[in-house]
Amino acid sequence: MCDLCSRRSFMRGAGALAATSLFGSPLMAQAPSGNDRLPARGEFVIRNAYLMTMDADLGDIAGGAIHVKDGAIAAIAAEVAAPGARVVDGSGMIAMPGLVDTHWHMWNTLFRSFAGDKPEEGYFPTVARFGQHMMPDDVFASTRLSAAEAINSGMTFVHSWCHNVRSPAHAEADVRALAETGIRARHSCGWPQGLPDTEPADQKPLESLAKNWNTWSPDGLLTLGMAWRGQFRAGPIKPEVYQPEFDNARKLGLPITVHVASSSKLVNQIEPLHKANLLGKDVHLIHTIAASPSELDMMKESGCAVSISPGSELRIGYGFPQTSEMLSRGIPLGISVDTDALIGSSSLFAVLKLARAVENAKAGSEFKMSARRALELGTIEGARSMGLGDKIGSLKPGKRADLIMINTDALNMAVMTDPAHLVLECTEPENVDTVVVDGRVLKQGGKLVALDAHKVVSDARVALAAVRERTKWR
Ligand SMILES: [Zn+2]
Repeated sequence: MCDLCSRRSFMRGAGALAATSLFGSPLMAQAPSGNDRLPARGEFVIRNAYLMTMDADLGDIAGGAIHVKDGAIAAIAAEVAAPGARVVDGSGMIAMPGLVDTHWHMWNTLFRSFAGDKPEEGYFPTVARFGQHMMPDDVFASTRLSAAEAINSGMTFVHSWCHNVRSPAHAEADVRALAETGIRARHSCGWPQGLPDTEPADQKPLESLAKNWNTWSPDGLLTLGMAWRGQFRAGPIKPEVYQPEFDNARKLGLPITVHVASSSKLVNQIEPLHKANLLGKDVHLIHTIAASPSELDMMKESGCAVSISPGSELRIGYGFPQTSEMLSRGIPLGISVDTDALIGSSSLFAVLKLARAVENAKAGSEFKMSARRALELGTIEGARSMGLGDKIGSLKPGKRADLIMINTDALNMAVMTDPAHLVLECTEPENVDTVVVDGRVLKQGGKLVALDAHKVVSDARVALAAVRERTKWR
């Protein structure tokens, strides 16, 4: 819904923006147990915001209210009675579900924009060169930096695609960093950078995490998966290497994620997976740029989901994602950051905007993909692709309270009337005023509240200096 009436209400709200802090101090009381660095889950009701629920039935609600209690959305409507709940004035704000990232090598954000302009300084040799010298503390610093940036820019879920697991401690460092920030996430446990394609990946880090997963995520915010090399890396991988890894993940009941047919040149990589019974509802494919029409049908038939990353795919020259081709088949599809080593910063709003632009350019039409459809890819569709569509991705009673509020009182957002276009085309990280994950307020008034941003950055600097020193590369 976006009629003239709702637009007027929205603009009235924008004019009445309150610049004061939206949440009172009681919300920031420390949790009685668990991670006591994180804010407690408070009870509050957001009023007067323009609500983009991203739910097909609820639509948009201008000037509506969201009641959050015990980490869940208790009610959402034009009028909500919430006696006793703290009132948050959402005037001038657009409230919507938090963005869902579906594949991100958070361990290499330390190497932000490291991918250079010559083949020896390209993405793959660079992250392999430096990645092999990372200690667990370096992974922690990098993943925590990524998660802080994610929260700051409006993501409430990230998929940490960890393919530099050099020891169980490296994997644990990635998980600890996610847990410390309070973000909702999946950690997909992979192999170490530099591992020859002829050698099997050590399964101990994955098995060790799986055995005691509840201790890593007692409140269920974090889930575990397996990052798999698949049948092809630089060249083909032999079945005696890839099959036991796949079988082990299935035995543990874990979702499997794999890069495949990543560039337009890497054709005929999906049919072999299909023939070997290595596709399925528990298999998540990354990129699939070179999938043929018949392979796209195989993906649909098998029930697997896909993540695309237009930012990195265009930057590295892989080609154009097949967004519309997958959506028209009903393949669950999410958007992802992939790597800051290639794309610099990780605003998913920017990546979504690019995803829409690519589809319009391919079709030669201004109207191929609507702004709202692009936002769905970053919210409800992304959540479905990660198997979380019943929990997050839209604002609806009963879902977990993962939401953001965007402040429209800024030079780059002022004077527009269509909220979907405004959000997709204009939102920068600094416009994200408030971020709530599972009912915990992690950003408010435009500032991170559960993390010391200066320490996150300074620790990352120290880690990078140490890795550079160990690597001894100019
Ligand atoms: Zn990737």
